[in-house]
Amino acid sequence: MAWDFETDPEFQRLLDWADTFVREEVEPLDLAFPGQQFTPPGPELRKIVTPLKDEVRRHRLWAAHLGPELGGEGYGQLRLALLNEILGRSEWAPVIFGCQAPDTGNAEIIAHYGTEDQKAKYLRPLLDGEVFSCYSMTEPQAGADPALFETRAAPDGFGGWVIDGWKFFSSNARTAAFFIVMAVTDPEAGPYEGMSMFLVPADTPGIRIERDVGLGDEPMGDGAHALIHYDGVRVPDEALLGGPGQAFAIAQTRLGGGRVHHAMRTIGHAQKALDMMCERALSRRTRDGVLADKQFVQGYVADSYAQLTQFRLFVLYVAWSIDKHNDYKRVRKDIAAVKVVMPQVLHDIAQRAAQVHGALGMSNEMPFQKMLLGAGVMGMADGPTEVHKVTVARQVLRGHQAVDGLWPTGHLPTRREAAIAKYAPEEDEKP
Ligand SMILES: Cc1cc2nc3c(=O)[nH]c(=O)nc-3n(C[C@H](O)[C@H](O)[C@H](O)COP(=O)(O)OP(=O)(O)OC[C@H]3O[C@@H](n4cnc5c(N)ncnc54)[C@H](O)[C@@H]3O)c2cc1C
Repeated sequence: MAWDFETDPEFQRLLDWADTFVREEVEPLDLAFPGQQFTPPGPELRKIVTPLKDEVRRHRLWAAHLGPELGGEGYGQLRLALLNEILGRSEWAPVIFGCQAPDTGNAEIIAHYGTEDQKAKYLRPLLDGEVFSCYSMTEPQAGADPALFETRAAPDGFGGWVIDGWKFFSSNARTAAFFIVMAVTDPEAGPYEGMSMFLVPADTPGIRIERDVGLGDEPMGDGAHALIHYDGVRVPDEALLGGPGQAFAIAQTRLGGGRVHHAMRTIGHAQKALDMMCERALSRRTRDGVLADKQFVQGYVADSYAQLTQFRLFVLYVAWSIDKHNDYKRVRKDIAAVKVVMPQVLHDIAQRAAQVHGALGMSNEMPFQKMLLGAGVMGMADGPTEVHKVTVARQVLRGHQAVDGLWPTGHLPTRREAAIAKYAPEEDEKP
């Protein structure tokens, strides 16, 4: 019997340390330095952040998703999931622990497909937490369907490439040291074999950030997601990541990990909302008791607990499966299913928590409205829910077959007839 829901005591000790450390040392950064986690820190902030990162390294939890050859601990996805659910409590925590999106996914593909020179130039500083990176794939006219991408990289006649086109919602472009750009290199070959990825330093001439797009009610022009015009951007052939035409395969590797890492952190985020819901339910009085005495509120608590536990077990199972098969493709169906469930779980729990807090829950003095926006983002970033449902459905249907004839195999009269025939006495046994 190998099913086991316990964490080994040695790793549990590290998790316990991480839990206290995030609550006491890292969560305050979210309040003191909001939205600054993806900006390379100035000298003052560096004095605060560097010792925290060192502390994480001392506890062997830095870049926990990567193998020792890349400066991580090689803990694998399951242990990362247990850690990430703690980190999900705080916006700064993934940066302090060296495992923030989109850099984790970017690091993974450079580690997997990069040349030694590319690893030295891009991966090393990324893993050391010295720089940030940007993944530039979505285009203004096409996101969910890469077949419609138009950004083109054409040979420049001197062994290099010229990139021309527009990209939309390239997160952290304004602070990134380099961009991973997906572009059509062979229009005849179609989207699966005709696109390539390029590693492009942020200071390459021709990269024009047209504007930064914000989320929700962030001030206009002040967001972290850029509309970028790649206007005759020249790169050498060494900028190619993997071989020509490999972009689609690389994107699948990257997004598989990214999606499940978001799910891991969402557990912690939703747990935080549930914790606040329970505290408020026990604290807020009505004329005949506290909110926790009301059945509707008890329903919110019970539904949230059950939903979160189901989600958590599913995420841990997916993490375990990735470790077991060491191949995102084999776990594709479940990664897509987790991606589908994730926004709903966060939305439902944040919504109930907000409701239990009354007007305060609607205000900007509590984090619930931001969480609700975050749930919407979870249903869009890395591909919309609808597209992932299609993936799940296709994969599930692959395990089934159409029936011959008019009646389904579950048709009771047909089955009963067959069952009676099965147990009918043979001709020579009849009385
Ligand atoms: C906060 C945030 C950060 C992001 N960061 C990045 C980033 O760093 N880099 C990057 O490249 N991209 C990034 N994205 C973009 C993201 O990947 C795209 O938004 C996503 O792929 C959807 O593309 P779209 O926005 O063009 O929507 P569209 O493709 O226009 O889709 C809109 C809607 O149409 C429906 N739809 C579309 N296609 C189908 C289909 N096949 N079946 C059923 N329904 C469908 C869905 O309801 C979908 O929500 C980010 C997005 C967000 C919100």
